[in-house]
Amino acid sequence: MIYAIASGKGGTGKTTVTASLASIWDSPLTAVDLDVEEPHLHLFLKPENMRTSEAYIEVPEPDEDKCNKCRACAELCQFKAISVMGDTLLTFPEMCHGCGGCIAICPEKALQPGKRELGEIISGKSSGNDFVMGRLRIGEAMSPPLMKQIMNDLMENDSEEDLIIDAPPGVSCPAITAVMRADCIVLVTEPTPFGMHDFKLAWEAFSPLDKPMGAVINRAGIGDNSVYDFCQKKDIPIWAEIPYDRAVAKAYSNGYIPVHAVAKLKPTFESLKQSMKQAASEVTHA
Ligand code: SF4
Ligand code: SF4
Repeated sequence: MIYAIASGKGGTGKTTVTASLASIWDSPLTAVDLDVEEPHLHLFLKPENMRTSEAYIEVPEPDEDKCNKCRACAELCQFKAISVMGDTLLTFPEMCHGCGGCIAICPEKALQPGKRELGEIISGKSSGNDFVMGRLRIGEAMSPPLMKQIMNDLMENDSEEDLIIDAPPGVSCPAITAVMRADCIVLVTEPTPFGMHDFKLAWEAFSPLDKPMGAVINRAGIGDNSVYDFCQKKDIPIWAEIPYDRAVAKAYSNGYIPVHAVAKLKPTFESLKQSMKQAASEVTHA
């Protein structure tokens, strides 16, 4: 099963929820940090035996001598990453999405597969579980290709392990990419007007995917009732409430996993885990 821990905005506690869940998971697990622009999960899970590999995307490399300037590649590319200006063939590798279409259709075989570095894929072990994270190359504009590569590698392994994904915050392409293959989405929010605003956006973005979704309300006790009212109105189950508590903030700031540092959180996360497993299995068996 694949579980995505997402949030409409940063700073809701999504990563500490992911770390807490990963640390109490009772079946084989890979914890995956797909927040590749700002990966933080490793700071809590403290993986060991780390291995790093570089990740690339395939981009066209032109051979000017073979090109007859027919423009077929430029007309195909939806991203304006290849163009013919007068007698010159121009490529813009940073804009290429790596679909390979231009290479496939070039009648003169004037385009060969080249590569652009996306970043790194780092894997290791954390408390007996597997751990994988991506780190986007500084200057790389697109994170979804790296995220997809991490997920493709994990899927290729055909492992029975559950995956818990720490998704990037927000509701744009990277967030959608992170939740796309999930069997269940956990939306972490806080009960404030800002939290409510972005929680609603996240719910609107993810609900068309038609996956089971539940809420975790972090810092419960502050703010107002708007998130609770919205959950009730939209029939979104609240799977956990994490109290606004100095001990939780202290654990977080010291890099400790809250569920271990604050004993009273254990039943909360056990119950959250059961709700997630139940929701995912109901869909699988439907
Ligand atoms: S499709 Fe091939 S031959 Fe035609 S312009 Fe592009 S690179 Fe040149
Ligand atoms: S590989 Fe795809 S995205 Fe990249 S330049 Fe060719 S057609 Fe455009």
